[in-house]
Amino acid sequence: MPHPPAQKKGDGSKGEGKQPFQSVKGMADILPKDAQWWYMMIDAARTVSELHNFHFLETPVVEPAALFESGTGLSTDIVEKQMYVFKTKGGDRVALRPEGTPSVMRSYLEHHLGYYALPLKVFHYGPMFRYERPQAGRERQFHQWEFDILGDGDPIYDVEIILAAMDFLKALKIKNPLLKINTIGCRVCRPGYRERLKSYYQTRKEKLCEDCVRRLQTNPLRLLDCKEKRCEELKRNAPIVLDYLCQACNNHFRSVLELVEDNGIAYEPDPYLVRGLDYYNRTVFEVVTPSSPGSVAGGGRYDYLAEQLGGHMVPAVGIAMGLERVMEVLKKEGVVPPQVRNRPTVFFAAVGEQAKKASLRIMRELRANGIVVVEALGKRSLKAQLKAANRSKISLALLLGQQEVFEGSMMVRNMVTGAQETVVLSNLVEEVKKRLR
Ligand SMILES: [Zn+2]
Ligand SMILES: [Zn+2]
Repeated sequence: MPHPPAQKKGDGSKGEGKQPFQSVKGMADILPKDAQWWYMMIDAARTVSELHNFHFLETPVVEPAALFESGTGLSTDIVEKQMYVFKTKGGDRVALRPEGTPSVMRSYLEHHLGYYALPLKVFHYGPMFRYERPQAGRERQFHQWEFDILGDGDPIYDVEIILAAMDFLKALKIKNPLLKINTIGCRVCRPGYRERLKSYYQTRKEKLCEDCVRRLQTNPLRLLDCKEKRCEELKRNAPIVLDYLCQACNNHFRSVLELVEDNGIAYEPDPYLVRGLDYYNRTVFEVVTPSSPGSVAGGGRYDYLAEQLGGHMVPAVGIAMGLERVMEVLKKEGVVPPQVRNRPTVFFAAVGEQAKKASLRIMRELRANGIVVVEALGKRSLKAQLKAANRSKISLALLLGQQEVFEGSMMVRNMVTGAQETVVLSNLVEEVKKRLR
């Protein structure tokens, strides 16, 4: 679709005449020119969901702010710094969801979804909101497609979730996805590791960034997540979790890795991968590709989240793909999206008031028979309408004029050869289908 160049943005100050509204910083429109990419990603995600038997689950964009404070965690960057929180007129403290997992678990507990299937497999799709500095591939509103399996702690489901994400990337022909994987232990073994980590950093406190000095008290694991150069350097000699795992966590992780290997997934253990959300335990993972600076998917096991939200224990595992990032990779790797239209398509032109009047009825008939109809009936002249037909690159045009209305016929024109013939209206659908075959 042709589109005009972006308008120069005004500074919004008064006195320069009326300025049209613009979108809020970090909130982007998804324009028709990107439609194919979105269709392609949604199609792939839906196909994978169907093949893996993930069920549809949609939750509201607005949730109680406390859901994320209890679930994602108060000391995480997402909740502490990036969440859009506001009071409603009724006085409720609510938030735009910064991520999907707490919502999925809230819904699971609220509607007793475990009653219907154990484990329950769901997919969850929509916009997420984080107030951070907008940068390439990360706006303040972005979209995630998430797979979750709730109600079973078996390592086979950790890998089933990873495979779903890998199948999605494969369906999109994304090259060389690499799984980074680690475990962060459980309630039994993690405290010991945390203490060890804390004392390691305690003695090097003066070399840490300001945020990390604070995190050292609240959540020492998150120091491994810091992107500050001096903190990254300290990480190199930090103790690793694998040396502190309990037997159960050790067995779990070993099973996961075996299955990952069995399935030929390219992977790399990363002993410092922690994914800084409070609810993760045991397996955590990310998927990176050579064409993306950040990860395109991330997730892990979250067996304690349900309890954090006031429910009983529900072992669960999930992964979320960032669709804007995936789209960037697709574009960078030169993947060509399939044409949006794979249905038969005609261009419909009409000249004169009577013909125009009759148009809607005929177009409805064509559409009722599965034929896509493109038109430019707002333009008066046939010439202008045919120009639009040429621009839309449709090979078959149907022309309706005064004469044809009178005769109950239509002119069918091959836009490539210019050949045209008259067809009786009652045979139109059949004749069109014959020519589009
Ligand atoms: Zn453990
Ligand atoms: Zn730091």
